[in-house]
Amino acid sequence: VISIPFKLFRIQQIDSQIDQAQSRCNEINKKLSTNDDLVEAKQKVDEAQQFLDNALSNLSHIEIDVQQQRIKIETSEASLYGGRIQSPKELQEIQKEIAALKRYLTVLEDRQLEAMIAVDDARDVLDNTQNAYQSTKSDFNHLSQVLSAETKGLLEDINHLTHEKEAATTDLPDNVLNLYETLRKQRRGVAVSRVNNNSCTACGATINASLLQAASLPGQIARCETCGRILYAG
Ligand SMILES: [Zn+2]
Repeated sequence: VISIPFKLFRIQQIDSQIDQAQSRCNEINKKLSTNDDLVEAKQKVDEAQQFLDNALSNLSHIEIDVQQQRIKIETSEASLYGGRIQSPKELQEIQKEIAALKRYLTVLEDRQLEAMIAVDDARDVLDNTQNAYQSTKSDFNHLSQVLSAETKGLLEDINHLTHEKEAATTDLPDNVLNLYETLRKQRRGVAVSRVNNNSCTACGATINASLLQAASLPGQIARCETCGRILYAG
């Protein structure tokens, strides 16, 4: 006849394995549902895209300014050389005006060049963030595959262990099983504690000789006086 404490100890081992597998499954689910790195990488891509859009819009405004400035210069030059204006004073005024327009054109062209460089830089930044995002995404996909395979294995283990527990509990009296399950709920999953060196391994309390003797009897249940767990003396 296998002793009740031994059976309970065995059931406890099975339950602890199930708990461990379940907690690992939960951890994996959490990892797979909160991919902060991916969210952050995507955010950087969006920011870089926004930055490039702004740089492009700035460049196109400057290009329009440059274009309009050139038209102004062409218009003034047309009136200077058109022959319609004869007054030397007036012609001199137009020449001055053209010189001023050309000076400002140089300023605008410098701005245009700066804006083009800014666009190039923004494109580089966007490329880098997109590469980083792709790489994070592929890392995450790889991790997902690995973790999904692990979850599959864990669920198989849990299934197998659950059957094992069912088989192990069939010939246990209901009141014993109820006590075991109640203690498991109250004592963070551990209802049965092995006695080692005259101590309860769960709480560390010393087990006196008479309690140790009681725990060694196959047909009865002895409990730790400190933590209340079922003792297994084997
Ligand atoms: Zn104890």
